[in-house]
This record gives sequence, structure tokens and C-alpha cells, in this order.
Amino acid sequence: MALRLYNSLTRNKEPFVPIEKGFVGIYVCGPTVYADAHMGHGKTYVNFDVIVRYFRFLGYQVRYVQNITDVGHILDSGEDRILKGAERERVEPMELVERYTRRYFEDMDALNILRPDISPHAAGHIPEQIELVQALLDNGHAYEVNGSVYFDVSSWPEYGKLSGRRIEELEKATRTAPNQEKRHPADFALWKKSSPAHIMRWPSPWGWGFPGWHAECSAMSTKYLGQPFDIHGGGVENKFPHHECEIAQSEAAMGKPFCRYWLHNGMLMIRGEEMHKSLGNFITLRASFQKWPPMALRFFILNSHYRGPLDLTEEAMEAANKGWQRLLGAVNAIQWRLADAPDGDTDSTLLSTLENYRTRFIEAMDNDFNTAAALAVIFDLVRESNTLVNSEKAPTQDTLSSFSKLYHELVEEALGLKLDTEKDSGMVDLSRSLIDLLMSVRQELRQAKEWEMADRIRNGLIKRGVLLEDQADGTSWRLSQAGSPSAKTDVE
Ligand SMILES: [Zn+2]
Repeated sequence: MALRLYNSLTRNKEPFVPIEKGFVGIYVCGPTVYADAHMGHGKTYVNFDVIVRYFRFLGYQVRYVQNITDVGHILDSGEDRILKGAERERVEPMELVERYTRRYFEDMDALNILRPDISPHAAGHIPEQIELVQALLDNGHAYEVNGSVYFDVSSWPEYGKLSGRRIEELEKATRTAPNQEKRHPADFALWKKSSPAHIMRWPSPWGWGFPGWHAECSAMSTKYLGQPFDIHGGGVENKFPHHECEIAQSEAAMGKPFCRYWLHNGMLMIRGEEMHKSLGNFITLRASFQKWPPMALRFFILNSHYRGPLDLTEEAMEAANKGWQRLLGAVNAIQWRLADAPDGDTDSTLLSTLENYRTRFIEAMDNDFNTAAALAVIFDLVRESNTLVNSEKAPTQDTLSSFSKLYHELVEEALGLKLDTEKDSGMVDLSRSLIDLLMSVRQELRQAKEWEMADRIRNGLIKRGVLLEDQADGTSWRLSQAGSPSAKTDVE
């Protein structure tokens, strides 16, 4: 089976066919950099990171473009988000943009999200946006009023095809006060005239002003990916009006399709509610990293389908963290056993079993990037590898390496869950040597007939999942829980 993905535009799951063989061009709407990234950003960009990673896993050459909105994102109140942020922090708008762009990438790095290949800034692409607006004026899909330019939705019958909304409905649904300049309430700004007091403004054929928010994505996606390009992604909350406007203006300007597939990820909810500053449930990624390891958060996000909403609760996050620790434990257990594993070939049945896990993983991901199903396959692999690690017969180095390689390929490369075994293995070595130390102290206590203290150590270890086996030639230990460290040590 080949990769199939759900296309929001056709409302169908379709086979993926690239425009150019072996190449995928992806554009995803990026952040407006006026404040720190929140949990919703975390979900969106983890979701698309895995999509990008999976295309690369399949051997495609990917060009991933994600914009930085640093101008023109107007709030319902009519204020520009960037200007509002700059006033709040008493800095230059571009200083604000620089600050939050850096912080955004730091947060994305923590979640092990690969940097986009191109991160174009809207303010750095004003001529391209002016060109788009001019093309729409030239072919009659836009009109100028008093230095501002609007897209004429009535001139474009396809307007509404992505969101399924009709222009008549839109007329009733418009929340903001009617703009006297617009011919129709659904018309949207391509270029806005600015007053001399407005800091972020540029000269244009229609006077000084700044671009409308939707213009940047149309101009920058096609500049770097061509028109049409393969995939446009973004949060479902951007489907309307943002994406609807992008399609309309790009297709009306060029007279050809904008892109082939539209992918929308579902929203992150907090205890069943949308996240809003006004509801007091707004969580920045930085704040969440204080509480949960970023990889546990990434695991939580990947444990549900990208298209669905994801409800963040304390309990769900706790459960995700446990699952993630269990997976880490299994990977680490393989590493520990590798340290003193005997030589020898890999069992051929085992190799085909591993190949089978790989196939099942690909099947899950081929089905519209079903990461939750892919993780279920990984947990079957965890059970298999725990059994191996805890088996009486010591597995060979080759066998353990095959498991380790597969974990690396599927969990780390494809899903982007950083296993970081190097750091953890330091802790592993320490745990092992501490257990050894306790065992030799216990042995000395037994020789001195200090039974009570010796039993205290034994019982304490059992409580922590370390089982001791006293034999004639010494004592060995093993772990009673699957997925925890396991080793056997003889005590002199
Ligand atoms: Zn966009």
C-alpha cells in the first residue's frame, strides 16, 4: 500500500502523487511572532514535523517552507498583532519580531521539531505581495478604494470551496463592524492604507500601506515552491478565512490551481475547552516544559491522530509520560544488555519478526500519517524486546543491535522522539553500580550474621523492582518489571 492522505479540499483520502517525482514541496502557515508559542503551536508543528519526517523516511526530497508572520496580522479590533506587542513591550516592532522568532525556534528545538528549509518573513517579501495584488487588480478580481485594495469575492465563484461556506452565509456571519470601503462584507483586504503614524508601512502603487495577512502565504509559498505545489498545511482554525482567501487570491491571480493537497490538523483543547487567554487556560510551551519533559509532550501529541482535536488534561499527560518512560526504558534496557552481550549471529526468525514490525509501522503511517497506530506497533515491539532482554539465554550483540537500530529508525528518525540514550545510559551505569554496591554490603552483613540489616536491603531492593537470587556461588539480580533495567551480577 502506498501513502494515502486526507485532502481537506476534496474531503477524501487520496493516494499521494507528487508533482515532480521524488520531490515534495510543503508549505505550512507559521506563527505570528508577537508572543511566546503556546501548546496549540506545539501540536501543529509536531504534527507537520512528523509528516515532513515521514516523507523523508520514504525517500522523498522535501522542501519545507514555513513562514514567519511579522506584519499584517490584524485582530478583530483592527489592531496589528505585531504593533500591539511592540507597544506592550516598549520595543521596535522588528525587535519584538526578532525576540519571539528566536524564542519560537528554541521551543521548537526542545520538541525536536526539525527547522523548516526556508523560513521566509512576510516583511521581507513586500514586493512579491505587491505583485500579487497588482495581478488581481489587472484581471478584475480586486478593486482599490482610498489607498486600500480588496479582493472581490463575487468575481470568484469558487470562493468557499475549501471551507464549504457560501458567500450568502458569510454575509450574515460577519462579526466585525461593516467596513464602508468593502463592496461585500466577505471581501478581504489585500493591501491596507496606513496613516503616517503607523510604523510598519511600505510604498506601493496605491500609496503607503501594508499587506493584508493572507497575501504573504500566497506570495511566499509559490515563490519557493512554484504554482501549483504539492501540500499546504496548517491548523484547522486557519481553514477559514485564511486558507480560503489564500486559494481564492492565488488561483484568481494566476488562473491555475494553487496546490494539490490541503492538510489540516485538529486543535489542542484544555480540559475540553479551546485555549484562550480570556479563559485563563492559556499555556505556553515554556511553562509546560517546566512540568513535563518536552519528549513526553511530543509523545502525547503523537499518540492521537493529527486531524483530530486533542484534549490536554493532567491525567492524560501523566499517562502519556508513563508510556513514554516505558518506551525509553525498553530502549535503554537494550543498550544495557549490549554492554556485555556475547558475540554471535542474529537469529533469522527474529530478523523477519523485526521486518514485520517495520512493515506494520509503515502501513500505519501510510494511512494518513496515523501516528497513534504507529505507536501501537512500537509498543508491540517494546513487549518483544523486553521479553528478549529478560530472557535467561543472553541475546547476542547482533540481535540487540538489530532492535536498537529499528528503534532508532522508527521512533527517533520517523517520529522524532529523541531517545537520548547517551545521557540516560550515564544514569543506567550509575544505577547498576549502586545496586552492585548494595549487594556487596548485604553480603558482608550476612557474613557478619547481621540478618536484620541484610534483609532490609533485600526487601528495599524488591520494593524497587530488583529481585535477588541467592545461589551457592553468589547472588545475582534481575528486574521484576518489564521495561526496566535488567542485569545479572555475581557478587564475590
Ligand atoms: Zn498562511
